[in-house]
Amino acid sequence: MSSIASPLCTVASGKRLKKELEQLKQWQSEANDQFNVVVEYDGKETYKWIVTFTQPEETLFLGLWDADSATHLKNISPYSLGTFVFSLRFNVQYTMVDGKMKPPPYPFTAPIVQFQTKVYHSNVDGDTGFICQCEGCNRVLTGGAEWKPNLSAARIVKQIASGVYLSTHSTDCPLRSDVAELYNSNRLQHDENARAWTKKYAIPGHTQHDSLESDR
Ligand SMILES: [Zn+2]
Repeated sequence: MSSIASPLCTVASGKRLKKELEQLKQWQSEANDQFNVVVEYDGKETYKWIVTFTQPEETLFLGLWDADSATHLKNISPYSLGTFVFSLRFNVQYTMVDGKMKPPPYPFTAPIVQFQTKVYHSNVDGDTGFICQCEGCNRVLTGGAEWKPNLSAARIVKQIASGVYLSTHSTDCPLRSDVAELYNSNRLQHDENARAWTKKYAIPGHTQHDSLESDR
């Protein structure tokens, strides 16, 4: 197996990512969004954005009817005010393996999204923090479409950092079937569990050392 790396594509991916970062900064200043991006580059094939954001406070209608008060039950989002860290990892190297490009560099391949903070969510792996790759979840990530090179990583950051991703549950996806099942069968218990994780891992005062970093 032979492997050749071309520095040209690395430059192209890097250029594009630099542009997207500028776009993100502009969005930040326009919308006053509460997120922060740090860029890491290992000098070879991996380019990483590390994003910290605070989930907005949000009131949810649970779709449950409370007979006692004759009202629909409401709940504060269990992720409210949690500060979460996630990363986007980009392949930026043009690598030929046995005459084939593997894997294509960004933007031809979508970035890989991974939560660094533990999060209780049906579409996020509770151990590794990797998010579900199913079509439904990908659509939540990009705001509606399958990944195409004309979509941007900046948009993915925005979808997650604005709180949309954690507020959406694609429970027909099997990534965490136990959590999805609980979400459908006992929403209050699900939210209580999610709130406990948020408190433990994502509320300031609890260090990030409690999070996935120490597990890897
Ligand atoms: Zn999914």
